[in-house]
Amino acid sequence: MPSTKRPPKQTPTTIGNHKLKPATLMMGYGFDPSLSEGSLKAPIFLTSTFVFEKAADGKRFFEGITGKRPGGGTAEGLVYSRFNGPNQEILEDRLQIWEDAEAALTFSSGMTAISTLLLAVVRPGDVVVHSGPLYAATESIIDKILPQFGVKWIDFPSGATREEIDEVLAKAKAMGRVSLVYLESPANPTNALVDVEAVHAARAAAFAGEELPPIAIDNTFLGPLWAKPLAQGADVSVYSLTKYAGGHSDLVAGALVGSRAVIDKVRFMRNTMGGICDPNTAWMLLRSLETLELRMSRAGENAERVCEFLRDHPKVEKVGYLGFLEEGSRQADIYKRHCTGAGSTFSLYLKGGEKEAFAFLDNLSIAHLAVSLGGTETLASAPAAMTHLSVPDERKKQLEITDNLVRISIGVEDPDDLIADFENALRAV
Ligand SMILES: *Cc1c(COP(=O)(O)O)cnc(C)c1O
Repeated sequence: MPSTKRPPKQTPTTIGNHKLKPATLMMGYGFDPSLSEGSLKAPIFLTSTFVFEKAADGKRFFEGITGKRPGGGTAEGLVYSRFNGPNQEILEDRLQIWEDAEAALTFSSGMTAISTLLLAVVRPGDVVVHSGPLYAATESIIDKILPQFGVKWIDFPSGATREEIDEVLAKAKAMGRVSLVYLESPANPTNALVDVEAVHAARAAAFAGEELPPIAIDNTFLGPLWAKPLAQGADVSVYSLTKYAGGHSDLVAGALVGSRAVIDKVRFMRNTMGGICDPNTAWMLLRSLETLELRMSRAGENAERVCEFLRDHPKVEKVGYLGFLEEGSRQADIYKRHCTGAGSTFSLYLKGGEKEAFAFLDNLSIAHLAVSLGGTETLASAPAAMTHLSVPDERKKQLEITDNLVRISIGVEDPDDLIADFENALRAV
């Protein structure tokens, strides 16, 4: 809300007993035009600092920021742009809506969100329990940077059963204080889903009567439309907004969405370190969120059509797509309980090796040859030769990162055009 004296947010979220959906609320929630010359859209607030009406207001706001009053760094009014700004606050309010969350924070990148979360909760001697594999940079923080500060880690495979999770939690407790359970689902590039409900139950059993380590989960691939892990017991949903939320491959940003208790701890760290999303990027994300459901729905429908075409093609060995999980399998069961859509990012295994994968990639004409995902345009890349080039061979094998693997993120183009493009590229293989 663009005022140093933020009035209560007045945007209605219901009509009578009817609860408004996120897609509707993305157009106006959290913004009061009367505070900005009647502007229908929020202006971009390019300022480093905010004027207090009275000295006493400044004091009160700082009491909030410094934690002299409860609220974990939230102030009654805007103070300084390292702490917050109108564009970022509106964005945080709207991100919360998708997962019915208590609080949200935005960051300059997904990795800033993840690093700030970790720094806010770990102490020397602690143990971070995580699902594996994780996004490569997240793994680097946990297994290269945090150990410099005496923080240890232990992991379980993404598809782990309740028994396997129990076992790893017991081992972790023997190693030190467990400060965080960090998940990523689906895992890249295996697409293995984590059973968040099982992790939640395993935590309750392992830490009965003790302080519960928060459960955070990277929800970049399916969130916020197709997966809402807070509903399955996670405390914090982690986002690279660079991907589907931003959706146009034109910005880098991140977010944490979840329980006030954890978010407030992280807010104190962000207030201190910086790392908040800038106002211009926040504004672009507000625009992106207005079409989030449209974009993700279309990309999801396109991916389904494309995967059906690819699955039956004679030059294709296998398609790793969440829509094709084996009926009755454990993964299909997790999918049914946790997801409302299969997403638009999947793994295509061609018959052959690097030569075939490269020929396919080099002959695409609509799909672009680039890493990343979740944009309006279709992207394709070869993980073994690109994003996962430095992964040791043994680990590559374990994660099915083979030379014939092509990773594809489907966009919002016409599906028949995409199929024609893939058909043509396969002809060259
Ligand atoms: C891209 C990505 C990140 C990192 O986000 P940045 O915005 O690039 O910092 C983290 N997790 C997942 C799953 C990602 O795809």
